[in-house]
This record gives sequence, C-alpha cells and structure tokens, in this order.
Amino acid sequence: MTAPSAAGLTPGSHGRDRLAEPLRAVVGTKTATALAKLGLETVGDLLRHYPRRYDDPSRLTDLADLPVGDHVTVFARTKSTGIRPMRGKSGFILSAVITDGHRDLDLTFFGKNRGILAHREHMLRPGRTGLFTGTIGEFRGKRQLTHPDYLFPEDAEERTRAAERATLPTPIYPASGAIPSWGIRAAVETVLDTLREEDVPDPLPEAVRAERGLPGLLETLRLVHAPRTAEDWQAGQERMRFEEAFVLQAALAQRRAEARAQPATARAPRPGGILDAFDARLPFSLTAGQQEVGATVAADLARTWPMQRMLQGEVGSGKTVVALRAMLQVVDAGGQAALLAPTEVLAAQHARTISAMLGPLAEAGMLGGADRATRVTLVTGSLSAPARRAALAQAASGEAGIVVGTHALLSQGVQFADLGLVVVDEQHRFGVEQRDALRAKATHAPHLLVMTATPIPRTVAMTVFGDLEISTLREVPAGRAGVRTHLVPLGRPGWLERAWQRLREQVDDGARGFVLCPRITAADDAVEPGTDLTEDVPDEDGAGDAGGGARGARGDGTARAAGPPPRPLAAVDDIAARLRAMPLLAGVPVGELHGRLPADERDATMAAFAGGAVPVLVTTTVIEVGVDVPDATIMIILDADRFGLSQLHQLRGRIGRGTRPGTCLAVTSAPPGSPAMERLEAFAATTDGFELARVDLAQRREGDVLGAAQSGRGSSLRLLRVLEDADIIDAARGEARALVDADPTLAAYPVLARTIAEQLDPERAEFLDRT
Ligand code: ADP
Ligand code: MG
Repeated sequence: MTAPSAAGLTPGSHGRDRLAEPLRAVVGTKTATALAKLGLETVGDLLRHYPRRYDDPSRLTDLADLPVGDHVTVFARTKSTGIRPMRGKSGFILSAVITDGHRDLDLTFFGKNRGILAHREHMLRPGRTGLFTGTIGEFRGKRQLTHPDYLFPEDAEERTRAAERATLPTPIYPASGAIPSWGIRAAVETVLDTLREEDVPDPLPEAVRAERGLPGLLETLRLVHAPRTAEDWQAGQERMRFEEAFVLQAALAQRRAEARAQPATARAPRPGGILDAFDARLPFSLTAGQQEVGATVAADLARTWPMQRMLQGEVGSGKTVVALRAMLQVVDAGGQAALLAPTEVLAAQHARTISAMLGPLAEAGMLGGADRATRVTLVTGSLSAPARRAALAQAASGEAGIVVGTHALLSQGVQFADLGLVVVDEQHRFGVEQRDALRAKATHAPHLLVMTATPIPRTVAMTVFGDLEISTLREVPAGRAGVRTHLVPLGRPGWLERAWQRLREQVDDGARGFVLCPRITAADDAVEPGTDLTEDVPDEDGAGDAGGGARGARGDGTARAAGPPPRPLAAVDDIAARLRAMPLLAGVPVGELHGRLPADERDATMAAFAGGAVPVLVTTTVIEVGVDVPDATIMIILDADRFGLSQLHQLRGRIGRGTRPGTCLAVTSAPPGSPAMERLEAFAATTDGFELARVDLAQRREGDVLGAAQSGRGSSLRLLRVLEDADIIDAARGEARALVDADPTLAAYPVLARTIAEQLDPERAEFLDRT
C-alpha cells in the first residue's frame, strides 16, 4: 500500500511534490524512522498529524486522570528526588516525584552506575518545571512513569527560543515510545520552515475562503502546529474542520449531480390505475407523514432523472405502504419495481404481505383478479428450479409488476422487461457501490428508494448519505399500544424466574413471545452475521488519536472478547432446550430460529410462530428487521448488553405492533455504572429512536460513526466531529452544492477535484459506505 497523500494537501503544479517527499530527506533518517513507527512517511503525513491538545505553559497538567497504559506527556514541577541501592541486586534506583500542585506522580529510573543517576537527580532537582513523557505504569497501586523522557525549556539549545516558547501554547502530539511529543513538534517545525505557499495547494476555493474569512492552507498549518495564542490554534482547527466537511460535501454533491445527469424514465401517476384502486381498498387512512412523503416520492418518480431518496422511519411507522404505493405508481406507468430485502426470510414475508395487501390487484390474469391488476413474484435462492424458472420468466416478460427478492436479485442477472424502481428495505448492507452498480445497470437508471428503520442523526445522514435526499416518517400510526421495557439484572434472586412467568402468562393469553440470544449454539462461538456484540465499544478519550479504533465485532460478526466472560453467552440451542425442560413452560411448544438453518426451515418456523402453533421463538438477530407478527407481545433479550443500542431498538420494534401492549425484558449481567449498563438504561428509558441513536453515537468513537475505514490513518476526517460540528457541516454542504451546481466537473477547481479523487480512491470509497 502506498501512503495516500494527505487530503487537502495535494501537489502544486510546479513539478516537485513536496507533500509526497519522504520525511527522511527533510528531518534525517533517525527521526524519520521514529516517525514511521507512527505511520508517518511523507511530509504530507506529518503535516496532517495534528496535535491532540495544547498545553498552556502557564498551567501545569492535571495529574488526576492518567490511565494506566496510556502514553502521556505532562507539564509538571519536580518535587523531590532520592537515590537508593536496589535490594538484593547490584545497581541503584532514582525515585523522583513530580506534581501539578495538587497531585503527584512518581518517576523511576534504574541504573548500574550511581554517577549517571546522580546527574539525572541534579536535572530533576526540586522546583523545576518541564515536560515529562512516557507510558503510565503501576507499582504497588501507585501510578508511575518508568524512565520517562523529560525536557526543561531552559535546557534547550536555543535559549532565546525556549524562553519565548515558555509563553506559547505547547502542542501535544499523539506520540509513542519511539519519539516524544516534542520530537514530533521539532520535526513539524523543521518541515514547516521549508514550505512555501505553492507547496501546499489549497482545496478550498479562494472565494469560499474569503467569504468565510478563513486563512490559507500554509497559514492554517502554522496556526495548528505552531500557534502563538490559543485563538491561533482554534482558528486553525476551525478552518481544517471546514475543509474536511467541504471536501466531503463537494464529493457528495458531485455524486448527486452525476446521478441527476443520468436519464431516467418519468413515471407520472395515472389516475384510475392500480394505485387508486389500492388506496380505495386500504383498511386505514394514511398518516399525515405517509401522505407527505408519498407526495414527494410521487413527484420524484415523475422526473426524468432518477430519484435517490432515503426514507427513514421508526420500526412500524409504515414505510412499506409508502414503498408499495410508489411501486404501484411505476406499475401504472408501465414499468416494474424490484423490492430488495436483506434476508430471504424478509423477502418472503414482504412478498406475502404485499400480495395480501393487494388482494385481487395482485392477481392479474387469474380467476377473481381485478380488471387492472399486476403480479407479485418472489425470486430467492431456495426456490425449486421450476419455480425459479417461472418466477424469472415473469420478471423478464414484465408480467410481474413487482419482483421481490434479496440483493442477489440485482447481481444474479435477473432480467426485467422495464425496471423502473428499486426499493431497498434496510440500507445497512446497501452502500454506495451497490447504488453505483445499480445506476450503471441500464442507460435508463431506475429510481431508487432506500428504507431504513435505523434513525440516523441529521448530520450523520448528511455526511454518510449526502448524495441521497432524505425523508422521515416521524409518527407511528395511531392505535399501537407501544412497548414497556424493563431491565432484569442477573443475580437478583427471582427476577429471571419472574421473566419466564410473564412469558407463560402472555402465551396463556394467546400471544407470542421472542427470546433473543446473542449466540446460535453453545457448541461454538457462532453468532449471527451482523450481530452487534458491543462489548468493546467505549473507550475513553479517543480524541484525535491516530491509530486503532476499528471495532472488531462489527460487520464480520466475530466477537472480540473484552476479558474472560464469567459464563458462556446465551445460545439459541441451549436456551431452547432449557425452556422445553422448564416446568413453568410445560406444554408450550418452543421453536428455534437462526441464520444457519436452511431457508425453508426458517420460513416454516416463522409461519408456525406467526400462526400461533409455536408461540415461543428462541432466536438470534435474524428476526431483527421487518418481521411483522402483530400478536407478539413479549420479548426477553438475554445478555442484552451484547447488542448495540440501535439493534436493541430494532429488536424491540418487533413487539407491541398490535393493539396489545408489548413488554420487553432486557436481561443482563452488566455491572451497575458500566457503559453497557448506561446503554441499557437509556434503552429502557425511551422508545425514541433518534434519542437512542444520539446516545449510541455519543458513546462511540468518531471512527465508529463513519465505519472502520474512517478511523485511524487514511481517514479523511481528522478534526471534524459529525455530531458536534453540525453548523460546519451545514454550511459546507450549502457552499459545496452551490459550487458543484455551477461547475459540475470542478474544471475551475483542480486542487479540489484532485483532493476528492484521492479521497474517493477505491481503498477509501468504502468510507462513504458505512454507518
Ligand atoms: P415499517 O416497515 O416502517 O416498520 P410497516 O410498513 O411494516 O412498518 O407497517 C407496520 C404495520 O402498520 C403494518 O401492519 C401496516 O399495515 C400498518 N400500517 C401502516 N400504515 C398504517 C396507517 N396509516 N394506519 C394504520 N396502520 C398502518
Ligand atoms: Mg418494514
């Protein structure tokens, strides 16, 4: 992998690319080797290695909060020293104590030679103020630095410069044992001294900069790395944040413009068609939100460029009806619609509900079908060969107006007579690449509607899905009884027993219950792919820290153990066996559902559950999305702390969908006060998905918000915070859209265009593709 040149720092037109220059050539081999350990190879890399914070040299660092294991740099005063022989060995120990005025920190040095330690002791004589850096360790319960590096300003070679420095903010860099913060600072200053304006071409157009009063790039780098006042670095950071937001928004604006430049077939509403007949037979009236979004979508479909819209709404907010009405508008206009679901179970369910809602309107050519009608066809991998052939024929001939399947529908070369609309249920696994592939599929790109029940805070949506227009269904149809959530801490005698009793009561009442487990089987560690085992989420102070932060558990479904679990996590097979053996549940059939079962078995189990023959279903998150069983009233989530907040919210949305209130019991052994417990408490306290999304994101590191590709090196967002910098993102979006609308190819802005191209190279395109 070649080192990507830093975003926004692209070569000038004068031939020599200063930013791609290896650091060796500028700061010497020794320093360059040390910097390489931090992943910094080029001049551009180093300039984008921003200080983690700035110390005010008139104030000492607070020594209260230095976590063991962290590499720290502290500004402190020496307090006392002493040398003593080592016990039972030859050699000596120098102990020193430094202080911030309130708290102390021990420094320890070992040496064979007393004279060398005595020299150090003189350096560390009480009353001196300096910087100390090292990794916080622990000895007999006290935190200490062993063999820290230190620097006293008055020892620095250039005394005048040091004296001046004593009053300047001190940039503190993410450092490592290989090179201390002040070593990085010195290297950055060396590099900065050699740079000219044309070495760092600015991706921000001059007009945008002028309008917002932002400094140029070279000046900004000086403000950030060598500030003279606190205002300096604040202004520098502000401008870099804006730049990050602007480059990203310009890239998104281009994607949007490209999409709009493609021809699409307009599918205007046809009065008197299937849609009107459908509306007439709807057993309920649309909510105000459904009507409003419906009108927006109807207008989108009537345009000659492809709709690119995301519809977000709580579980149960009625997105499917909105989507179905859009599909019918397209069918009325002579086209076909494809509905893509994340799993075969859901695809099958969608096909069933849609057929049921359409009734005779889905029975074209059949006895009893309406005059104006269409067909709904399900295409999945588990169809028998003849059934599949028939389904494919219906899609290809256009006989099926609505084709339902998984994403494989698009990749497996299924032919459509005239595909006019693609509806994607749940955006999670449908990213930019798939959107691009879809767009490229035909000269006339289909319209696209992406539905998600994961509430995404507005600025995150603008950052991650900035090329989509966003509609939101905020209300849930009236008549829903809702869900109450209770936490069941393990270890409280009788509480879990009471949970099973409530399950029994609900079943006796004719209702159904889910029992959720994080694992499939006790025999191995298998978890459902996509299961969000969140144990490893929070970690303190990730701010600006380069390096790791990608969460091992996301997406690939592998759990990363955070310490040995006190007991194995609940598994579907094990729990189902126990429930069947439980006297309390005697006579109650208990089913099992997870992704390792064959599709037909899953379908049969779901059907038995929905129909009531098997009223208790022990399951993994395979039921997470979309499953609609109105009679399900209780959900017991075992090891609830192992699931992410948004996932818990999704799961809970499966119950309380009918007229009977739902009960969600979250069973956990998370200790009180732990981040996991805080998440669960938030989960129990509110059913507002947007509030939960906010709590969730606030608990996570920034990198997790935008996906693993965004954290650490190679990330294009270093200073921008998608939750806190809403104003900046808003402003940048406005400016970027205006610029791209006026100059879609960015012909007049070559530096910006190049920066975008770099950020969207294949390795990094992924960053737009995650939530
Ligand atoms: P979502 O996909 O947003 O989770 P659905 O579209 O599956 O929600 O709707 C959930 C249930 O609510 C379905 O049974 C649907 O028929 C019903 N529903 C949808 N819109 C309304 C409405 N306006 N009034 C009453 N019930 C509705
Ligand atoms: Mg749905």
